[in-house]
Amino acid sequence: MKIILLGAPGSGKGTLAKKISRDFDIPQISTGDLFRAIVKESSPLANKVKEIMASGGLVPDEITIEMVKDRIAKPDCKKGFILDGFPRTVKQGEALATFSNIDTVILVELANEVIIDRLSSRRTCPNCGEIYSIEDNPEEICKKCNTPLIQRDDDKPDTIRHRLEVYDKNTSPLINFYSDRLFKVSSAGSPEETYSPVKAFLTKLEEKGE
Ligand code: AMP
Repeated sequence: MKIILLGAPGSGKGTLAKKISRDFDIPQISTGDLFRAIVKESSPLANKVKEIMASGGLVPDEITIEMVKDRIAKPDCKKGFILDGFPRTVKQGEALATFSNIDTVILVELANEVIIDRLSSRRTCPNCGEIYSIEDNPEEICKKCNTPLIQRDDDKPDTIRHRLEVYDKNTSPLINFYSDRLFKVSSAGSPEETYSPVKAFLTKLEEKGE
C-alpha cells in the first residue's frame, strides 16, 4: 500500500505513521526527518536547508522531489510506504504522480489552537525519533532508548504560527488535488482513537488487494 498522510504540522501524522508502519509492515518516510539528517552534515545544501527549516518555510520543490524519488526507489519500499510530510505543494503532488501511484491519502484534521498547544509541549528523541508530550513524560527522557528529549527549534510559538500559514497557503490545496482518494480522520482524541478508524480502513483496502 502506498499511503500519503496529509495534515498540518502537529496534527499527529508522525504518531499515526509509526502505528501504520508497525502493523502493515511498510516504512514511514518523513521528509522532515530526512531533512533533519541532512542538516547534521556540513555542506552548502545542509546550510541552506537548515536556514529554511529554522524559519518554518519550505525547502525548494526540486530538492525535495529528488530526495523522495531516490528514497522510494529503495528495496524496502517495494511493498509500499507511508509518506509523512510529502507532498507539501501541488507541484510536489504532480511530480509524485509521474513516478508513483498512491492508493490512499489520509487527511488528519485538528483545530489550529489545539495544534499550537500540542506542538509547544512536544518533545522528540534525537536518537530514535519517538515523540512525546511533556505532560506524559515530564522527566523528558526517552522511554525507549533513555536519551534526553529535545524541543525542535521549529516547535517554538512564532515558528509554529508561520508553519501553519505555510500549510494553509501551500499544502491545503492538495486536499482538492486528492479528492478522489481522501480518507478523513480527526486527531482530537487519543493516538489510539485516531488510529482505530484508520486501521479498519487500511485493513479493508489491503483485503481488496490495493
Ligand atoms: P516536518 O517534520 O514534516 O514538520 O518538517 C520539518 C521541516 O522540513 C518543514 O517545516 C520544512 O522546512 C521541511 N520539509 C519537510 N517536508 C517538506 C516538503 N515536502 N517540502 C518542503 N519542505 C519540507
